[in-house]
Amino acid sequence: MRKKERKENAGRKSACFICKREGELRSGYEGLEFEGASYDIRFCPSCGLGVTVPFLSPERLKKIYSSTYREDDSTRFPGPLEAVINIVRTGRCRRVESVAKKGRVLDIGCGRADFLLLMEGRGWEAFGLELDERIRERGGRLKGVELKYGGLEDNRFPDAFFDAVTLWHVFEHLRDPAWAVNECKRILKPGGTLVIAVPNARSLQARMTGKHWFHFDPPFHLYHYSALNLRRLLEAHSLKVVKTRHFSFEYNPYGFLQSIFNRMGFKANLFYDFLRSRHRGTAEDYFCIAVMFIMMPLMLPASMLLSMAEALFRRGGTIEVYAKKQG
Ligand SMILES: [Zn+2]
Repeated sequence: MRKKERKENAGRKSACFICKREGELRSGYEGLEFEGASYDIRFCPSCGLGVTVPFLSPERLKKIYSSTYREDDSTRFPGPLEAVINIVRTGRCRRVESVAKKGRVLDIGCGRADFLLLMEGRGWEAFGLELDERIRERGGRLKGVELKYGGLEDNRFPDAFFDAVTLWHVFEHLRDPAWAVNECKRILKPGGTLVIAVPNARSLQARMTGKHWFHFDPPFHLYHYSALNLRRLLEAHSLKVVKTRHFSFEYNPYGFLQSIFNRMGFKANLFYDFLRSRHRGTAEDYFCIAVMFIMMPLMLPASMLLSMAEALFRRGGTIEVYAKKQG
């Protein structure tokens, strides 16, 4: 990474947007590699918020997105895995409905709109925002779901418009999270529900695997949250946290599995790339993947048990936070 940029970031004196503490961040993990560049994760000594350093400009991030497999988010996992993922997604709908009143829902960073299509089928009026250029071209409606190109800052909704606003693994990508929380509050009806799902930097899997943790995902994840500091941020904006979930079948066992493989010294996220059929590997890579498959009968149950254990101790690998707008 450019030395100058790293230096500028290291010396950032701006206050923490959660706890308002001023001053330097404490060092956490160093030398996380992605596409030949190296990143550090630093933490606020007061509230534990993690920050990816260097904190790349939107232009540079966009360049990296478009030069990697991440550009194409329509890549699907193999069939049976997709079927499991779909069952799990229905769970998302049920969980939102257990907290929110049925009405209008906005999903920020909705991707292929899988979640919104399910919600629409369950009687919700569904809206989605997505930064993928293909939405701009296709635009408009997708089977009853209103899709808009861009982020919250590009699409202004009326005050008190939504019953639920959801961000599934999107919040950690946001450049100005405090503004986003405030904007979500504005567009939520009184009593409306904000749902934020993020990786948990205080999780057991993050602590056990350190810089190898799958969900640090530099440079794409700009900030790294915990249940505590996320609650603090929401409550500072008069959003009352009513539920925090520490188990995700979709994310947590896999997070453990991939992080342990990374920690063992396999090439970072090799198995993940292989699953997404994006792998153009060497003979050595294929040998490693074969070794991983041989280890699966042990690794799969271990990852599942560890994920259940971390959830029991409220240290889940990813968390879902449900908060209500007061009033
Ligand atoms: Zn802080």
